[in-house]
Amino acid sequence: MQTQMQAVTYAGPGKFRLETRPVPRLLDGRDALVRVTLASICASDLHIKHGGVPRAVPGVVVGHEMVGVVEQVGAQVTAVRPGDRVAVNVETFCGSCFFCRRGSVNNCTDPQGGWALGCRIDGGQAEYVRVPFADNGLTPIPAGVTDEAALFVGDILSTGYWGAGLGEIRPGDTVLVLGAGPTGLCCMLCARLFSPAHIVAADVLPERLALAGRLGCADRTVLMGHDDAAAALGALTEGRGADVVIEAAGGRGTFEAAWRLARPGANVCVVALYDKPQTLPLPEMYGKNLTFKTGGVDANACGELLRLIERGALDTTALITHRFPLSRAMEAYDLFEARRDGVVKIALAP
Ligand SMILES: [Zn+2]
Ligand SMILES: [Zn+2]
Repeated sequence: MQTQMQAVTYAGPGKFRLETRPVPRLLDGRDALVRVTLASICASDLHIKHGGVPRAVPGVVVGHEMVGVVEQVGAQVTAVRPGDRVAVNVETFCGSCFFCRRGSVNNCTDPQGGWALGCRIDGGQAEYVRVPFADNGLTPIPAGVTDEAALFVGDILSTGYWGAGLGEIRPGDTVLVLGAGPTGLCCMLCARLFSPAHIVAADVLPERLALAGRLGCADRTVLMGHDDAAAALGALTEGRGADVVIEAAGGRGTFEAAWRLARPGANVCVVALYDKPQTLPLPEMYGKNLTFKTGGVDANACGELLRLIERGALDTTALITHRFPLSRAMEAYDLFEARRDGVVKIALAP
């Protein structure tokens, strides 16, 4: 087996680079070594690059969205075997602590628990990745599901599924999703599983809204700052507003739009990662009786997601707009960061 590999690393604030690194080794009986067959670049990688994730460790191999083939497993791993094609979960979790037992795997109290891969421990924009707690963090990919179809299962699709689940969407509801970037699109695709009457996509970029319509994610679109969002929602709900709001934008004013466009009694789910504090003007919203839910994904449904993909109920392959070899990862980052050429998601092949 090879001993050196290519990997994208965080070289300190503002700097990512492609480096040669040793192929990782198993450090624990519950670890697995995965040969990465496809990885993706996520907006969170850019947050790390620009110092927006203080717990990210300089020198770490980045990347937390990938699929691959199990190369080696530790003695205590039982759920996967060498040769298995697997989706890698963004979160590594012990499965036995207080939070894991309640499904809150994002808050796993193990030092390697939660979002560690590609942030606090070496991740998967590389040829190989060591995955702790492999029994929990790796999910075998069904034979009929391609790597591209499974690529987003562990991260943005998990987020979409979790975000849509938080909304407790009922058949006939009108769901507003703020943000038609990759995560917002995944929220819309997953919201559709709950049979709402309408999914309204809102964004400031017309091309993203066009994509949301083209992919069949949303049946209505609202160009923020241009269209009258309240009127558009009112027209669908006899003037009430959205039954469920999923805020996946994290932009200026989007938190305020989320609660203002919600009807009284709505669930407002904040999936977005903000870089600034937001205000919650309770006097103004008094009596509106909103339920707010916030947070980072508990990615504990990868098996379910892969079954939905296998059945044809979910398909995120159209989000992959660009493909690069890992050796050109820096070029891919430039394109992704500058949002050039209609980029939505990039697949990196080692
Ligand atoms: Zn991510
Ligand atoms: Zn745990």
